[in-house]
Amino acid sequence: MSGPGVDPASDPASDVTSGGGVDWDDLHRRATQMMQRAYAPYSSFPVGVAGLVDDGRVVAGCNVENAAYGVALCAECGMVSDLHATGGGRLVAVYCVGGDGQALMACGRCRQLLWENGGPDCLVMTPLGVVPMAQLLPQAFGRDDLESHHGAR
Ligand SMILES: [Zn+2]
Repeated sequence: MSGPGVDPASDPASDVTSGGGVDWDDLHRRATQMMQRAYAPYSSFPVGVAGLVDDGRVVAGCNVENAAYGVALCAECGMVSDLHATGGGRLVAVYCVGGDGQALMACGRCRQLLWENGGPDCLVMTPLGVVPMAQLLPQAFGRDDLESHHGAR
């Protein structure tokens, strides 16, 4: 293992990346519950995700497919909607799981969603342990870019 990642199996209570006392076991349990509610009749690839909010709330989501495949919603979409629907705030830790209950990486689009709602310090459980968003989406495009590159009008 290299980098700031930590193997959750060997050190579940690790404060590495300091998730500031993130209860990864609880996030995993909630993500797994959500995965079991996924609507994935076409891919049979259920996904669930849970995120810890900076005020202590936990928000969650599952993937929702559609007969028009292209409009399927990733689990993170539901979680971000849950975040704002229940009061907003910033994501500080996220755990996404697949049908086997193991950590699953967010797709490219969803990394952008996590960046918008959690920023570079948001911690994400990955198959290699916990890593901050700054490593999962290097040189990310974000709000600051809108403000500094809008050009003259
Ligand atoms: Zn996604």
